[in-house]
Amino acid sequence: MRILITGGAGFIGSHLVEHHVRAGHQVAVLDDLSSGTRANLTGLLDRVPLFQVDIRDGDAVRATLAAYRPHVVSHHAAQVSVRASADDPVRDAETNVLGTLHVLGACVAHGVRHLVLASSGGTVYGDSPQVPTPEEVPPAPLSPYGIGKEAGERYVRCFEASHGLTAAILRYGNVYGPRQQPHGEAGVVAIFARKLLAGEAPTIQWDGEQRKDFIHVEDVARAHLLAARPGVSGTWNVASGVGTSVNALYQAIAGQLGVTIRPGRAPRRPTDVRTSVLAVTRLREDLGWTPQIPLELGLIDTLAWCRATHEASLAA
Ligand code: NAD
Repeated sequence: MRILITGGAGFIGSHLVEHHVRAGHQVAVLDDLSSGTRANLTGLLDRVPLFQVDIRDGDAVRATLAAYRPHVVSHHAAQVSVRASADDPVRDAETNVLGTLHVLGACVAHGVRHLVLASSGGTVYGDSPQVPTPEEVPPAPLSPYGIGKEAGERYVRCFEASHGLTAAILRYGNVYGPRQQPHGEAGVVAIFARKLLAGEAPTIQWDGEQRKDFIHVEDVARAHLLAARPGVSGTWNVASGVGTSVNALYQAIAGQLGVTIRPGRAPRRPTDVRTSVLAVTRLREDLGWTPQIPLELGLIDTLAWCRATHEASLAA
């Protein structure tokens, strides 16, 4: 199978590339390298063509699909910061809504059979009254980023109904793991780790008792392999189903790094969600996926990567 992964040079995308190559698929990446890097694809670029293209440029996206002719497109390229979306909603929508439409249009124009969309369980539900939140709960996003992700989902369903391709929508929890950069609030593990390794105090917004659902990127990649098969149609949360407060996460990271630094405190931001814990029953029942890596375990390779990156930056 030939699969094109947009955003494939980014944190999650590069893990998906690795897993799909390992599973024997032909893989290409479309990425403008705005936050992704070639270094994330080290050891893969001899086998994985990288099209340096901005999804806001519809002609360039269509030309890429015309050249590569993928059977499956996995759409992960995005503006990923909730805060940036609140500061500049137009810019967010240009990438996350119009860019997504360019990708969808190119898929239809070039006979793509199946699409995977990276959506966001942490933002599309807003502050759901039902916790853990199952997929049936209607979206009620609090941020422009969440609204853009919901719009992307709706366009995908519309294109699926009208154009004969199938689509899997994956609503990720807070994904963490090696290669995550400390931009965008989803990267809270990387943000805390970078600060603590530098001997600085990270800042915790609100009272730190807001609970999030942390899922290791290897678990996400296993779910993606199952969802990226033509004919697999549905919307699934990809998460741990377990809520962890930001304070508890901080303690776990500081404990594993062996440091004691008192965090700074800052007020709540209007787009902050109090509780985001996602039900994962549907993904287990439909595709046989369950999360395998508990947070304490997943932090080990993540923090080892953060430490190695920190030490390399000191040596440079
Ligand atoms: P990331 O920033 O590492 O990856 C995004 C990639 O998209 C980068 O490689 C970047 O260069 C590329 N990109 C950005 N704008 C582009 C554009 N205009 N044209 C082409 N490429 C562009 O972030 P990530 O955490 O790996 O996120 C990947 C996807 O998963 C995104 O769609 C994000 O919204 C979604 N998601 C992430 C999380 C999380 O916890 N990290 C949670 C929910 C959803």
